Amino acid sequence: MKSRRKLIVTILVCGGLAALAYFSWMLPFYEFDVNDYDVSFEKLFSAEYLRTLVPLFIIAALSAVGIVLVVKLRKQMVKSDRRYSRFADAHTSKQSGRAPKQKPALFMIVRRTVMVVSAVVLIWGGLIFGLKMSSLSLPLLSCPWNSEEMTASSCYYLSHLNELFQLPIKKILLFVGSTAASVILLGRAVCGFICPMGLIQDVMDRLRRRTKTEGIAANEKLYAALTPIKWTLVLVFAGLCFAGGNFCNFCPMVSVSPILAGISTSLYVSGFLMIFVLIGSFFKRRLFCSVCPVGYMVGLFHKVSLFRVKKDCTACTECGACYEACPMGIKQIYTERGKADVTDANCIMCGECVRCCPEDNALSLTFAGAKIYSSSRKKLMSGCEPAEKVRR
Ligand code: SF4
Ligand code: SF4
Ligand code: SF4
Repeated sequence: MKSRRKLIVTILVCGGLAALAYFSWMLPFYEFDVNDYDVSFEKLFSAEYLRTLVPLFIIAALSAVGIVLVVKLRKQMVKSDRRYSRFADAHTSKQSGRAPKQKPALFMIVRRTVMVVSAVVLIWGGLIFGLKMSSLSLPLLSCPWNSEEMTASSCYYLSHLNELFQLPIKKILLFVGSTAASVILLGRAVCGFICPMGLIQDVMDRLRRRTKTEGIAANEKLYAALTPIKWTLVLVFAGLCFAGGNFCNFCPMVSVSPILAGISTSLYVSGFLMIFVLIGSFFKRRLFCSVCPVGYMVGLFHKVSLFRVKKDCTACTECGACYEACPMGIKQIYTERGKADVTDANCIMCGECVRCCPEDNALSLTFAGAKIYSSSRKKLMSGCEPAEKVRR
């Protein structure tokens, strides 16, 4: 009875905070007008810039409150329900499918460095370097990377087809060409290496591990539950493409990258969604990537991407460590017993499966046929504590 009362109070507090946040963001102060895009590099050091960041602070604070509430609620449920306690023991883990701490491989160092540099370039590149790249686009969630045309991210034009076809033919070709080239060259590696939203989710995961909070381990039920959300977002995105709507109102990234670039923007639904994304990706790695419509569309072209995941089925011992480690829940890398190419439409080329595989060369990442990262037992064990000496 007591725990039910606590649950009701928690839901009311969460609902109240969410309503407060939602209505405070409707203030005209945060209205966004693309024609006001006159941000200069100097503005990054002004009080006005700090004022622009206020919605971001609200999002961060509400997400922190949400995370604390979820942790407390889970503890409460474990305490008050023995059956749940047994369930939690079986379905959660501090490591959430990760291998023991080990020395980072060169591939991982490069991937993380590229992610950070990409985020800086995609968010502030236009301001810092004065990038003017006309309609060059990357298929990912980052609007303000181009100081000449901040709306040139491909998800913007894909969800505003009417605006795309009003551009001069040269710009349309440039847009289509650069988007197609990045899809073919990189595929969903843009998600593992470049998209700032991916970096944000990785940071939330790191935060969880630093605070030693239990995550939600990957299981098929979770991915089955996420599938309807993914299809809803894909249908909304595709529907708005043809109906001439504005997907930006629903995109969580609108509440981050334009604001960081110094553009005042209204948050509405997107800011509200961002709170859920931050809380969700804290407990489950790359939660939003599992439902992202942009990632889904890039994944449709995975067969032509130059990045591949290869498996040597003769070296595989069917331990399942790769599936446990995969943030996208791709079972094929574990279950495949014949084919050498196990690249899946959802694979973001993060290399976690390769890192956690204990068999030499059982899994590899390749680019244009050349191996760039292979599994190795020695590397996997490199950071493990030596076994204690047993006194006889
Ligand atoms: S799936 Fe979407 S959010 Fe995730 S990294 Fe790819 S484009 Fe970004
Ligand atoms: S299959 Fe491997 S590289 Fe692809 S997303 Fe899963 S862990 Fe990352
Ligand atoms: S981690 Fe390696 S050995 Fe284990 S199932 Fe996956 S590919 Fe096979």
